[in-house]
Amino acid sequence: MTVRVRFAPSPTGHLHIGGARTALFNYLFAKRLGGSYILRIEDTDTSRNKADAEEKLIRAFQWLGLTWDEGPDIGGKYGPYRSMERLDSYQPFLDKLVAEEKAYPCFCTKEELEAEREAAQKNGQTPRYSGKCRHLTAEERQSKMTGNIPHTIRFAVTGNREIGFQDHIRGNMSFQRSDIEDFVICKSDGIPTYHFAVTIDDALMDITHVIRGEEHLSNTPKHVLLFEAIGQPVPEFAHIPLILNENGKKLSKRDETILQFIEQYHDLGYLPDAVNNYLALLGWSPGGEYIEEEIFSLDKLVELFSLDRINKAGAIFNQDKLAWVNSQYIKAMGLDELIKLTKPYLEKNNDYQAYLKQNELHGEEAGERTRELVALFQTGMNQISDINTLIQLFTIEEATYDDEANEVLTQEQVPVVLAAFSKKIEQLTDYAPAEIKKTLKAVQKETGFKGKQLFMPIRATATGQVHGPDLNQTLYLLGKEKVLERIENVQKQVVS
Ligand code: GLU
Repeated sequence: MTVRVRFAPSPTGHLHIGGARTALFNYLFAKRLGGSYILRIEDTDTSRNKADAEEKLIRAFQWLGLTWDEGPDIGGKYGPYRSMERLDSYQPFLDKLVAEEKAYPCFCTKEELEAEREAAQKNGQTPRYSGKCRHLTAEERQSKMTGNIPHTIRFAVTGNREIGFQDHIRGNMSFQRSDIEDFVICKSDGIPTYHFAVTIDDALMDITHVIRGEEHLSNTPKHVLLFEAIGQPVPEFAHIPLILNENGKKLSKRDETILQFIEQYHDLGYLPDAVNNYLALLGWSPGGEYIEEEIFSLDKLVELFSLDRINKAGAIFNQDKLAWVNSQYIKAMGLDELIKLTKPYLEKNNDYQAYLKQNELHGEEAGERTRELVALFQTGMNQISDINTLIQLFTIEEATYDDEANEVLTQEQVPVVLAAFSKKIEQLTDYAPAEIKKTLKAVQKETGFKGKQLFMPIRATATGQVHGPDLNQTLYLLGKEKVLERIENVQKQVVS
């Protein structure tokens, strides 16, 4: 059997992390088994469709590198790959089900259905369709049809047998037919509902495994009934656990504590491999010898992936963990590549552009300075856009002194250290890291202060902070003038 799986988003908005994870699991599963991964757009709920959503979805997937073998943009043997372009394929199946009395037209109006629902609720019953139109006589049905009375098509859920299927993640699933109402498979405008379109599409596209979010679990018995009714093999199912927030609650799209859309990660400068890496571990783990490992390339994930290692329990989304995974990818990447990625952020950073001008750095020299800065912060970035906050250390005019820095600056030795240091660097003709290092040594010799007593006041004075990247490099990148100016300012305050 050749494995064929699909990710079938509705074009209603940006790509959500939950959707991306479902797509990723489908992709990994297909690639692991040498099968096909298909992108299919489920757009039959036309009132919810958004004009540019498909394009956005495709862009997000392309960025993630989860390429499909068949899809709306590239076509394929089983196309078209948008449900609304497949209306002709659904009709014969609908007609056949109606002819076989497995489905029937329902003429109930919205108001009638609403009244039924309210009555059921009042009596403490689960609202469900009464099945009224199933029992219309052939004449009644005919006369309503000739009268052009608007109607939907409902599937007739008959018999008492349980509906069972084996889920790759949840095991043996069983549902009662009696709990399922006669559900609508075609709306009054002639457009099939999700339940019908998805079943026919999966059948006609020879989908072997349906891997989708757990929120669809209650839909699956309906789909099983439909597959059976049209005489097509039922695919295998795997329902992926929900994504939960830090409090263990189902993630709501309104939850603003979490960045939920792939586009946001793209914009902040996350790396697609890091996002895939983190999402893969959200509910799945490779186990065995890899149990302690957390960094996996896409190829490695393909090699290790299997459905039976997906967890049943909901997966807690941890934003900090994702940031950490991303920082590991940034750390491991070549400097040239990282510089390329920071470029769009730095180009838009007016303070940085002003800093380059002020230091008279143009062309190659400006490029060299960018290189030095990016190298300095490579290990401190969680996301590429962090470069803009990190380089504020160099670009802001006035340093702001935090509490720790202020405390250091009250130490007794500060005036002596600063005076000696400023005198020496003022005289430096070649203001470069190696010379600065020598200068610090000379100050140590002259004043007798070393280690923290020497470095902390200088760092605090020059940057307003007591922690930061390499001191020599930091002083160099700040530029002689700024360092001297800041020393002078601090000296004034210490004296006064
Ligand atoms: N269009 C459905 C959704 O966006 C997909 C359901 C399925 O995979 O069957 O949730």
